[in-house]
Amino acid sequence: MEFLIFSKALYSTWIFYKPERLLFDAGEGVSTYLGNRIFAISSIFLTHGHVDHISGLWGIVNSRNNAMGDREKPLQVYYPRGNRAIEAYLDFISRANSDLRYHFREHPVEAGSKIFLRKAGSFERYIVPFKVKHTRDEISFGYHLIEKRSRLKPEYAGLDPREIAGLVKKLGRDRITENYESKILTISGDSMALPVEEAKGTHTLIHECTFMDIKERKFPNHVSIEELIPLIHEARPKRVILYHISTRFERRLKHYKEMIEKEFKGEDMEFHFVHPSKIFKL
Ligand SMILES: [Zn+2]
Ligand SMILES: [Zn+2]
Repeated sequence: MEFLIFSKALYSTWIFYKPERLLFDAGEGVSTYLGNRIFAISSIFLTHGHVDHISGLWGIVNSRNNAMGDREKPLQVYYPRGNRAIEAYLDFISRANSDLRYHFREHPVEAGSKIFLRKAGSFERYIVPFKVKHTRDEISFGYHLIEKRSRLKPEYAGLDPREIAGLVKKLGRDRITENYESKILTISGDSMALPVEEAKGTHTLIHECTFMDIKERKFPNHVSIEELIPLIHEARPKRVILYHISTRFERRLKHYKEMIEKEFKGEDMEFHFVHPSKIFKL
């Protein structure tokens, strides 16, 4: 399993990304559902301070203190620097749980900063927050998961393994390879359609899609599926997961999925919709 997601617009949203043990947002019910698996979370990334994205954080912090599990592991929480609702809530949590038996660390972060996750062999992974357009007065972020890899420089790319081994000996590995970055995952948080440059080249795009019909939208704070189609055409992710869907559309999700699959027929892309009343696993 890669993803475990619950997302019902207005009520609760959280995304557990198992390969890196990350939780993006912490809406209500998250610790109730995850149970002992809350000990599997190493870092939490909050997109913004609306209640449906943060209200489950206290439950996680408190349950990790009292449930049976490994208290040696620290828990990190990252959030947009200057987000007042999150700061006030974190302040409340730290006062209500002033005697935590594990390390709980708060990190206000800026858009564009690199948050290191891990290094393994020739690759390194980190998170990069970016600004998104949601409500006025609310600093809101989306997050990229980026992997830095190394590859042969183009002039050596066609060589056979023996020739490469010879060059490594003669010139050293660093001279014949170059680093490049690829986006593994891009999460929009609550937002209007992301700018193409943010979504471009990402493997998995998890985009909010509160509305399936733009006529139902009163304020330009959330996206409607019509606006995502041109973005997906340009950004060309391999996999799209739509979440933060309003319950008013839940009975017709099959219809919308067929519609979008028809639009991208013949493309090497897959589409998933997070049903607003069900846990999503992938
Ligand atoms: Zn929301
Ligand atoms: Zn919101």
